[in-house]
Amino acid sequence: MNISENVTRICERIENTAIKAGRAPSSVKLVAVTKTVDAEAAKAVMDAGVCALGENRVQSFLEKYEVLGSVPQWHIIGHLQTNKVKYITGKVSLIHSVDSVHLAQEISRKAERIGTVQDILLQFNISGEESKSGATPESAQAFIEEVAPLVGVRIKGLMTMAPLGADETETRKVFAGLRMLRDDLEKRYPDLSLSELSMGMSGDFESAICEGATIVRVGSALFR
Ligand SMILES: *Cc1c(COP(=O)(O)O)cnc(C)c1O
Repeated sequence: MNISENVTRICERIENTAIKAGRAPSSVKLVAVTKTVDAEAAKAVMDAGVCALGENRVQSFLEKYEVLGSVPQWHIIGHLQTNKVKYITGKVSLIHSVDSVHLAQEISRKAERIGTVQDILLQFNISGEESKSGATPESAQAFIEEVAPLVGVRIKGLMTMAPLGADETETRKVFAGLRMLRDDLEKRYPDLSLSELSMGMSGDFESAICEGATIVRVGSALFR
C-alpha cells in the first residue's frame, strides 16, 4: 500500500474530472475516509497533503482524535445517534449525516452549551432504497424549516449516498437528484446558502463531480 501515490492519483482524477466538467479543481474537496485504517495510515494521508479526514463511527473518530488531535479537519459521515453527539461537538468541522430534526436539535443544544456553532449537512435518501438513512426529499421543506432556525447549527449543504451496486446511469441520477433538490431549496429559501454537496465515494466520485459534488468521500481507493 503506497498511500502517498494513491493520494496523488486520486487528486489527479478529481482535478481532471472537474476540468472536464468545466469546474475549477479547487471547487472539489477530498475527504479521506479513514474508517477502515488505523491512525498511522490516517497520518500518512495527511502527510500526503489531505487535510480532511472522515469517520463514520464516533468511537473510531475518538480513537484517532486522541492520536492526531485537531490538526486534521474531522468530518463525521455516518449515521449519528443523538446520545453520541456530546462526544463530537467542538471537535469536528462538519457533520454530513444529519437526517432528522431531532438529531439537529441535539447537535444545536450541545454546540450552544460550549459556545460554538456546528456546521452540518442534511442527509437525503434520494434513491428511496430502504436500507439507506437520510430524510426523504418530500420532507425537505419541513426538515429545513425546523433546522434552519436552530442557533447552534449552520446548514452548509446536502449529502447523499448512491445505492449499493447501482450502475453509472442510476448513480448519476441520484447525484443529479441531490443537486436539483439543493437548487430548489435555495430558490425557496434565499437566506440559506446550501453551497456544499457531499456525494461520491471511491467507485463513483467522478460521476458525482460531473453532477456538482463539492465534497467527495473517498476511502478504499486511498488504502489499497
Ligand atoms: C465508507 C464510506 C465512504 C467511503 O467509501 P469507499 O467506497 O471506501 O470510498 C463514503 N461515505 C460514507 C458515508 C461511508 O460510510
